[in-house]
Amino acid sequence: MFGFLKKPKLCQQCGNETPKLHTVYLPSFSGQLSDKPVGLCTECLQQATVSALHAFPARAVYVEPICDDNYGFYPFSLEKDREGIIEPLSSFLSSSADTCQHCSKRARFCWTPLETWHESSDLKFNNKSAVSGSIMFCEEHMASHFIGWIKSKGYYLHEHRLPYGGEDGGCY
Ligand SMILES: [Zn+2]
Ligand SMILES: [Zn+2]
Repeated sequence: MFGFLKKPKLCQQCGNETPKLHTVYLPSFSGQLSDKPVGLCTECLQQATVSALHAFPARAVYVEPICDDNYGFYPFSLEKDREGIIEPLSSFLSSSADTCQHCSKRARFCWTPLETWHESSDLKFNNKSAVSGSIMFCEEHMASHFIGWIKSKGYYLHEHRLPYGGEDGGCY
């Protein structure tokens, strides 16, 4: 029997060792996504997420990921499916519930649970009225909730796209 020891990877941002890397597309200063991803440890992913959420001027929904693959921000303006995606996800971003669950800051981000995924399709969502347990967050608390969730699953994200540009959108 052969035992292969997996070498730890090095984070491209801080240089620390990490068991695996998150592959992340960061927004640039111009507000677009860089076309080359960077490999980040979980701590650097959290910092990058906080920075991206502060720089991002609009609102976004994080739908609880089904897996660790290809999960990232997608602006509603590029989305064609109004009925299955834009309208249901926008329903989570009502301006009336816009304070963070954990602090008094303005909340532009919403975390919604797995049941937001419509049972009929991989890319169709339920409206807020059909989902319980969505949470509004400020930048820091959205990032810490998301990273806490990733850690609890032991996930290292592939092709993760942080929020960019200036328009509302979803992460899914
Ligand atoms: Zn790092
Ligand atoms: Zn907060």
